[in-house]
Amino acid sequence: MTRPTYQVTELLGDGIGEELSRAIHRLAEALPVTLEFRPVDLRLESRRVNQETIYDEAVDAVTFSRVALKYPTTTAEESPNAILRRRLDLSVIHRPVYTIPGVPTNFRRELDLDIVRIATGGTYDDPGRMIGDDGAVSLRIVERRPVTEAARYAFNLARKTGKRVTSSSKYTIQKATDGLFERVTTEVARSFPEVAHTAELFDALLGKVIMVPERFQIVLVLNEYGDFLSDMACGLAGSLGIGASANLGFDPAAVVRVALFDAAHGTAPDIAGKNLANPTAIFLALSLLLYQIGEIRLGRTVKTATLDLLREGVRTRDLGGKESTESFTDAVAAEVARRLASATDTRQIKESIADPQ
Ligand code: NAD
Repeated sequence: MTRPTYQVTELLGDGIGEELSRAIHRLAEALPVTLEFRPVDLRLESRRVNQETIYDEAVDAVTFSRVALKYPTTTAEESPNAILRRRLDLSVIHRPVYTIPGVPTNFRRELDLDIVRIATGGTYDDPGRMIGDDGAVSLRIVERRPVTEAARYAFNLARKTGKRVTSSSKYTIQKATDGLFERVTTEVARSFPEVAHTAELFDALLGKVIMVPERFQIVLVLNEYGDFLSDMACGLAGSLGIGASANLGFDPAAVVRVALFDAAHGTAPDIAGKNLANPTAIFLALSLLLYQIGEIRLGRTVKTATLDLLREGVRTRDLGGKESTESFTDAVAAEVARRLASATDTRQIKESIADPQ
């Protein structure tokens, strides 16, 4: 049987980027699909030599492959993240936040949230202005298009994963802006009748995420609410530096056009080249990429195998363990291969019982 093949743009980065890329290739070998990586060199030296042309190359490559994995890059003259966000029109951020075994946290509960945040508008597009010396005003902007894009993404994710969606805003007070957000979300929800959807006032949501975190799965929010919620959830999970996110751009029909996946941490120059980098975040980014290309079972296996190994104490030094980048990667790759093989065995046994030839 031929293996499904997917093109993936790999945006090479600085510091620990090279080690993370090797780890990703090693893990990809354990998957029953072929990921054809096409590298674009976004390392600082290449950016300095090639200037704008390297971004043209990156934009063309991502537009062609539709999915990309980005390694951390040094922010020097420019921020590659900001340039890519603008040039690829990445208007929605999907940030999963969950408690990660081995990461110390003050929170005693398990948290597993998918935050889908509209990355434009809200109060963040207008710095505001003074009215005389004693007053100030700013605009709050909510538009149908990005809300539709984010809502469609959130409901599609729910459909694929069997999760439920909570949209959250202050629609009782911000009647025009947040009212529009909730109306558009409800319109989108009608196309997904099998997905459970509730609306929750944002202040109440913050309290409930702390008190009854298991009640929330996918949370859809406007820009600034997403900003607040992401940081609060990361604080609860104790994992500001270990998460990953998907940055999404859409076509006019609100279908995902391009998706760029990256780790939240930076280039870690202090440990670069020492085989100490923790590849957890980039593995979680790969898991999101697998979800996006429709390989749900593989995405889930990469995530759960990585987290289960951490839970069992197989950890790199930054999490108090003894593993190197390479030994941790080998352990995850072996565990992923083992789980996928045994799941296939189980399915084959079930199929042969159901259909004895
Ligand atoms: P950093 O995340 O690189 O490092 C902070 C600390 O966390 C360091 O002690 C580092 O060793 C550790 N750390 C980070 N990632 C780790 C990993 N995977 N495994 C083990 N330890 C890890 O943040 P910083 O030092 O503030 O920034 C360094 C550079 O990275 C800067 O040039 C910054 O602009 C850039 N940066 C890039 C991105 C990105 O491209 N997405 C994000 C943040 C920072």
